[in-house]
Amino acid sequence: MKKTVVLYPGLGAGHLIPMIELAKVFVQHGVAVTVALVKPPSELGALDFPAVVACAAASNPSISFHVLPASSSLPATSGSGTGSGSSSDDASSKKHYVLQMVDYLKTMNAPLRDFLRSLPAVDALVIDMFCPDALDVAAELRLPVYYSYASCAGDLAVFLSLAFDQDTYTASIDAGDATLSLPGAPLFKASDLPREDDKDLEAGKAILQTLQRMAASDGILVNTFVELEMRAVRALRDGLCVPGRDTPPVYCIGPLVSGGGGEKEQECLRWLDSQPDHSVVFLCFGSRGTFSERQLKEVAVGLERSEQRFLWVVRTRRIVDEVLPEPDLGALLPDGFLERTAGRGHVFKCWAPQVDVLRHRAAGAFMTHCGWNSTLEGITAGLPLLCWPMYAEQKMNKVFIVQEMKLGVEMRGYDGEVVAADQVETKIRWVMESEGGRALRERAAAAKDAAAKAIQEGGSSHADFVRFLQDLDNISSRS
Ligand code: UDP
Repeated sequence: MKKTVVLYPGLGAGHLIPMIELAKVFVQHGVAVTVALVKPPSELGALDFPAVVACAAASNPSISFHVLPASSSLPATSGSGTGSGSSSDDASSKKHYVLQMVDYLKTMNAPLRDFLRSLPAVDALVIDMFCPDALDVAAELRLPVYYSYASCAGDLAVFLSLAFDQDTYTASIDAGDATLSLPGAPLFKASDLPREDDKDLEAGKAILQTLQRMAASDGILVNTFVELEMRAVRALRDGLCVPGRDTPPVYCIGPLVSGGGGEKEQECLRWLDSQPDHSVVFLCFGSRGTFSERQLKEVAVGLERSEQRFLWVVRTRRIVDEVLPEPDLGALLPDGFLERTAGRGHVFKCWAPQVDVLRHRAAGAFMTHCGWNSTLEGITAGLPLLCWPMYAEQKMNKVFIVQEMKLGVEMRGYDGEVVAADQVETKIRWVMESEGGRALRERAAAAKDAAAKAIQEGGSSHADFVRFLQDLDNISSRS
């Protein structure tokens, strides 16, 4: 009989997009898939949820989507976390948004359990890293449960190590530029661990606590490929990150990247059509990456001085979570910038068709915030990365991209007040004009080929997925 799995992506586009790509892989392997969706409460989601669901369902007819009914039990504490307009009177009681997500998803255990029970048969539940409480539902229903990890294997190695060694994490918070040595990772600065403000220590510890639960799952599916992250994968598989207990199997099944190709008529793609091959630097900083006015001006000056072609997605700082005001480019950018760079530069104010842009023949380099989806999209397009990490785990991703994968360079000043115009100019010139930049572009082209091979039949990620399905068969036949 055909196997059935339920995927449970939790909240947020950055987690839903790779989960839908994972669903496609299940379908390719003859497994029936249902994605169980949770509508984010307004303080946790800037998504136009009905539109996202309708679009996902329309473009993936072989996948079932089911929106879980809202739970009647709500989390005990929930401030608005990331925006101004808080509904909480006591700002200090605001929880980190990741912990708010975890709390909210815990309230969805009952609807999830009812839904799983309503299905004629389920062979496995695959959950997002921020749905740890769904493990309890799987245990109750005696279902095999797997994590889908939405970032790189290197991060997984580091965060699992710290989850089981919180003293090192606590010490590292005060350690600033001290160097850390952890299994699966190169030496890195303690300040590259995720940390959004000074109050983050407790939040960081609580998040690590939730990640500890990964060790209790039947396995972890990671959106990467072995050839990209050999050291981290080896450390995970050798049990170095969770000493003293069994690490569940780690399956590297990526890169899973959304296909693009949907929006050929977009203005920025038409503009790229008029540019020479491999000539344009694309600057885009994820779904949440916004800059201050001062930073925008520095980038503009750097771009202008670099004399290179560019396509720049500009967003201003968000004022409330849901609404990104349309930037007034004339007021934000230096006087005359748009006129002086017309022809060789294009500034785009909306959501860009990023995958299509990166794969366009005119794209030459990618200045990125190092979100893992963006990183994989850049790697699979064969582009060198200019790494400007901004939030969440992106500084760790930068460590792995620059030091391990050797597919990018760091933008100096990312961890200070401002990245200076001079740095923007220097790094763009370096990547586009220098001998070192040429070598980096060659490595990026080789990584693109390796990524394509990994997911083909006979490739390492294809083989890991087959191994995962066999392991699942073995677990199912035992129970
Ligand atoms: N993205 C896009 N257009 C934009 C900005 C982002 O298509 O203008 C997409 C991008 O291709 C990626 C996702 O949004 O698939 C961002 O995910 P990532 O993990 O890189 O970063 P996050 O936004 O979660 O920080």
